[in-house]
Amino acid sequence: MKKPNWKIVIVGGGTAGWLTAAVIAAHHRSRLPGGPQVILVEAADIPSVGVGEGTWPTMKNTLHSIGLDESEVFQRCHAAFKQGGKFVNWVSGDGDFYYHPFTVPLGYGRIDLAPYVASIENFATETNFQQSVCEAGLAPRTLAESEYQGACNYAYHLDAGKFAELLQEHCKEHLGVQHIIDTAEDVRLSPDGNIDSVMLRDNGELSGDLFVDCTGFASLLLGKALKVPFTDVSPVLFNDRALAMQVPYEHDDSALACHTIATAQTAGWIWDIGLTNRRGVGHVYSSRHLSDDEAESNLRSYLGASAAGLTPRKISFRSGHRAEFWKKNCVAVGMSAGFVEPLEATAIMLIELSARFIAENLLPDKSVLQVTAKRFNEQMHYRWRRIIDFLKLHYMLSTRREPYWRAHTDCDTIPESLQEDLAIWRFRGPMVEDFKSAFELFPAASYQYVMYGMGFKPEFETLAYLHGRQLEARKLIQRNQQLTAQMLQSLPPHRSYIDKWLGNSQQG
Ligand SMILES: Cc1cc2nc3c(=O)[nH]c(=O)nc-3n(C[C@H](O)[C@H](O)[C@H](O)COP(=O)(O)OP(=O)(O)OC[C@H]3O[C@@H](n4cnc5c(N)ncnc54)[C@H](O)[C@@H]3O)c2cc1C
Repeated sequence: MKKPNWKIVIVGGGTAGWLTAAVIAAHHRSRLPGGPQVILVEAADIPSVGVGEGTWPTMKNTLHSIGLDESEVFQRCHAAFKQGGKFVNWVSGDGDFYYHPFTVPLGYGRIDLAPYVASIENFATETNFQQSVCEAGLAPRTLAESEYQGACNYAYHLDAGKFAELLQEHCKEHLGVQHIIDTAEDVRLSPDGNIDSVMLRDNGELSGDLFVDCTGFASLLLGKALKVPFTDVSPVLFNDRALAMQVPYEHDDSALACHTIATAQTAGWIWDIGLTNRRGVGHVYSSRHLSDDEAESNLRSYLGASAAGLTPRKISFRSGHRAEFWKKNCVAVGMSAGFVEPLEATAIMLIELSARFIAENLLPDKSVLQVTAKRFNEQMHYRWRRIIDFLKLHYMLSTRREPYWRAHTDCDTIPESLQEDLAIWRFRGPMVEDFKSAFELFPAASYQYVMYGMGFKPEFETLAYLHGRQLEARKLIQRNQQLTAQMLQSLPPHRSYIDKWLGNSQQG
């Protein structure tokens, strides 16, 4: 069969643009004759957002599939392992903490251990070893294991700017992506509403079959040219500002956290992400509840002496997403499609999923594009709804007393879908079967870790069938204790593992 002659124009060269280019070009072998043409246009004078350092375990597969060595990513992007999130002070604000680890509870999908644990707040440690591994600051694997493998599920913390640079180099040198440095100043539409071309300041008109809008908050193609409205979710998720800092370590061998730390504040939270050469720390907050000065003072008191001489960068954002993500021959990926606070690092994960969807649906018959668009929109609406619900869950169960936190528990701010879920989960907790997608971003396990970590205890005793497997449950909980002890004994400290592994791979 004749190969489809796709010409794909990606506008924007941040993480979204380069990841999308890499995934499409690698999937379709664009470097070979007859493969689809992938062209990325990037403005020299419009900077990328430059934050976005926490990823999701999906990134392992994405990096592998585009042909990058994991050790190269670590070297070039000062990357570290991320094994989940630690949420500090989210429950009462009195030094409490819980984890959302990436490895699922033992017996997951076969038996729900929640009714059998001794204490619901300790669900994560009683059913899974990863929280203990994180608290001990260990790497997710030993030197005997190979790249992209691990005893524990993991993602990465990486330098966003360096990551975009690495992707750019890889796309151009190995994947056949064409790079044009120029600014798109206008978008030309055909009478049927498709995009015909983008007008570049220096290079003139650039036509294409499919246009991918990766222009970040500008949303130049989907938002401005195709006039797809923005759905505001700030009534549910209040945060709309961030102050970000790059913080040096005190010593070269300072401890390196293997999880993101999210510490709740009076009207928002502070992220703390460890890279090998520095930390990325920032305060996300609601401008309705906190002034910029108050936020800066919170950030400085969190960092103490390590903030001396540093000036935070302020980023304002609108919480929400486009009402459609793919219209005619234009699809938005990244922040042009939408953005909500980075509490569970969902943005880059959505970029990966969107890019994969596009790559897998560039079919020989271009006339099916509208069916593809419809399916993409359905899938993205589901994903955004699930993300918004899951992020809200982190707030609505808190017992903190500040006005911001009280407002989060107001029923009017809680999506109906989440209220419905909780009405059921009040009795039996979340089950695998409650979730419909073949690949759920946040499956039942994620909800369990957060709900139980925050002390939400379902009325398990009202359902006799939940208690009928005592022996099996006890064995699994004991097995978890053994596994935890084994992991603590066998896994190496995080920083020393990375140093040795990269040292070995340089010699090899
Ligand atoms: C405070 C904060 C923290 C975050 N933390 C995380 C996190 O931990 N994990 C996570 O997954 N995500 C996080 N994100 C989101 C993440 O940063 C973004 O999803 C990711 O960087 C992708 O951004 P982007 O490529 O869509 O946009 P940008 O990085 O803004 O890139 C836009 C690109 O478009 C180009 N452009 C714009 N207009 C034009 C034009 N007219 N012509 C040509 N080119 C143009 C620009 O030059 C640039 O290259 C965070 C975001 C914020 C704001």
